Amino acid sequence: MISIQPTNLIEITRHGERDYPYECCGLLLGTFGENEWKVVTETYTISNARHEEAKRRRFLITPEELLRGERHAQDRRLEIVGFYHSHPDHPAIPSVYDREHALPIYSYIVLAVSAGIAGELRSWELSADRSVFVEEAILKGVEYVSNH
Ligand SMILES: [Zn+2]
Repeated sequence: MISIQPTNLIEITRHGERDYPYECCGLLLGTFGENEWKVVTETYTISNARHEEAKRRRFLITPEELLRGERHAQDRRLEIVGFYHSHPDHPAIPSVYDREHALPIYSYIVLAVSAGIAGELRSWELSADRSVFVEEAILKGVEYVSNH
């Protein structure tokens, strides 16, 4: 389960449209709640590190960019709770490549962008044995209330 603010969803869709026909990617920053909930309060844009030709198909976040994102999150007392990227002219379903490079716990939001227009946006979690992506519900704009 992931909760995300409407403004963050707009940022992701705009990023996907802006980078079309290439894949965009970025970090989902927020907090881990109870029962494996993730609460996204901020997005962090990352440039696509791959070579021009490959950008259409695969996203890659370099270790340097990830470290910069982690520092940014720490400064704001947030954590990286997931990643987002777009699929230009492809459905919002993770590819085999996506699965092979994913880690459990995190959320993976995939945005379909068709002919430059953002379409479906879905969120996925890797199963504990890393064999399959399972879709998770997206709660839009729901404030998570901690028991602490
Ligand atoms: Zn992908």
